[in-house]
Amino acid sequence: MTAGSQNALARLVDLHCHTIFSDGLFTPEEVVERAHRLGLAAVGITDHDSLGGIDRALIVGCKLGIEVVPGVEMSCNADGVDVHVLGYYLDYKNPDVLQFFEQVQFHREKRARLMCERLGKLGVKVTMAQVKAVAKDAAIGRPHVAQAMLEAGVVASTEQAFREFIGYDGPAYAPKMKLSPEEAIGFIKQHGGVSVIAHPGTYHQDKAVYAAIAAGVDGIEVWHSDHGTREVAHYNELAQKNQLLMTGGSDCHGGRKNGHIYLGEVSIPYKYLAAIKRRSRRT
Ligand SMILES: [Zn+2]
Ligand SMILES: [Zn+2]
Repeated sequence: MTAGSQNALARLVDLHCHTIFSDGLFTPEEVVERAHRLGLAAVGITDHDSLGGIDRALIVGCKLGIEVVPGVEMSCNADGVDVHVLGYYLDYKNPDVLQFFEQVQFHREKRARLMCERLGKLGVKVTMAQVKAVAKDAAIGRPHVAQAMLEAGVVASTEQAFREFIGYDGPAYAPKMKLSPEEAIGFIKQHGGVSVIAHPGTYHQDKAVYAAIAAGVDGIEVWHSDHGTREVAHYNELAQKNQLLMTGGSDCHGGRKNGHIYLGEVSIPYKYLAAIKRRSRRT
């Protein structure tokens, strides 16, 4: 090993970032440029149920000389609990993959429409056109509905929209398409990707994590903005015990979540990305 490559292994990567293609505020170009300015060796583009930002990120990454890791964060449901599964290096140009995510987008739109209808019945006027104007190219989600409600002047804040209307127990809430973590893991594997259970510390119990391990998940997101030292130690141990890959990232949304830009704040040594790449048969 040369000194140069040893250096590369010591450099840091942030493997979990969102763009305007889901609920992030930055374009793919902005995410990559900011990651480059922070001196990161690589940045993962992991939008919710969308692969739309990958090519744009790869182009600017190539220009700036920063590695872009193509990824996606799939929304799943396990016994009523929302669970996210990250997929890295899946064959994102495969027609079956594209068709699958088109279907997911279709369901997301149907869900947003249903929430608008339910809000209407409650006397809260927000239209699907307003939601779409907020979402633009992104995979439509509740943050866009909340933002449209704010812009329509029917709530004073997006927090109020969630708290009173579209939160899990809210009267206008509509559930997501039912995709199990096992199905997402199988789908990612089938298309050459590496699957990782995202931010397990946020599920408040490990049932979904054990189910994901039984289903053959490749890795656990050990480091995450919502993980404290206890969670990091626990999932580090769980990953090692089960010989799983360990990943980490900031889950940066570019400020939408309480105004804080997390990009690069959770970053891990390149060696963890090297292990993901060895596992993926596409690199
Ligand atoms: Zn997530
Ligand atoms: Zn995320």
